[in-house]
Amino acid sequence: MPRYEYRCRTCGDTFELSRPMAQSSDPAACPSGHDDTVKLLSTVAVAGSASAPAPAPRAGGGGGGGCCGGGCCG
Ligand SMILES: [Zn+2]
Repeated sequence: MPRYEYRCRTCGDTFELSRPMAQSSDPAACPSGHDDTVKLLSTVAVAGSASAPAPAPRAGGGGGGGCCGGGCCG
């Protein structure tokens, strides 16, 4: 379960909560009971990134190790 970091604007305290991603934007009360909190953008390492870079196409497209790869077939 991902952890989210919040900051209370009433007492200035920061705290973390482990909650489902669907509830990440729900209001969270600080440990002192204040409701005026904001969610911080924390660098939480969540396994399973959905934005993996696409593999670049290989130049040449040869099988590798063939004779015709280096222009020796002439
Ligand atoms: Zn507070």
